Amino acid sequence: MAQLAHKRRTLPELAEAEKVDQRLADLRDVLIAAETAQGDVAREQKKAEADVEQVVNRAARDRQLLESGRGSAKDLENLQHELETLARRQSDLEDVVLEVMERMETAQARVAEMTAQRDEAQARRDAIGAAITAATDGIDAEAAKLTGERATVAGTIPEDLLALYERVRAAHAGVGAAAIRQRRCEGCRLELDISEVNAIKAAPADQVVRHEECGRILVRVPDSGL
Ligand SMILES: [Zn+2]
Repeated sequence: MAQLAHKRRTLPELAEAEKVDQRLADLRDVLIAAETAQGDVAREQKKAEADVEQVVNRAARDRQLLESGRGSAKDLENLQHELETLARRQSDLEDVVLEVMERMETAQARVAEMTAQRDEAQARRDAIGAAITAATDGIDAEAAKLTGERATVAGTIPEDLLALYERVRAAHAGVGAAAIRQRRCEGCRLELDISEVNAIKAAPADQVVRHEECGRILVRVPDSGL
């Protein structure tokens, strides 16, 4: 059960989910920046197009006046000059519009690229989330089965011994009882000293013996070396 709990806490998918979450957070920031940049260029484009429109309207008005033939020769000459200036200005402003439109394409491409990367990362995160759910469901089912088995085993153990086991287990990293193998305590890995070995040899089989060194309940098994 302790191993299952450890496995549940340390699923490799959990570490991967954390990495993808970090990437998603980064991509969200990058995407917001890209969208903001696109909005700025969109405003610039609108402004540049309005500038062109203003010049075009002014030139149209000038041409109308010129064609009407009203006004003095000097007025008409001035209008002619202004139309020439307006034509140059329109050409310059149209260059600005073209330049802004190119930047707009770049900005849109960046938003599209970042959106695609974000969607891809989100799909990956969803898949990891599903894998985590599947893995933990499996572990939980196994743990539930073991909980039942443990309760059955615990029911066969005298109450005072079970209480002692729980106490030792809580104090010793989840291991309350350990086998003796080759005269060594499997709980703390230390070798039993000779007087301890002799005491255990002399003890009746149903007597609870504990390791003096670590306090764990010692379990005698065929290869204990006693
Ligand atoms: Zn020990």
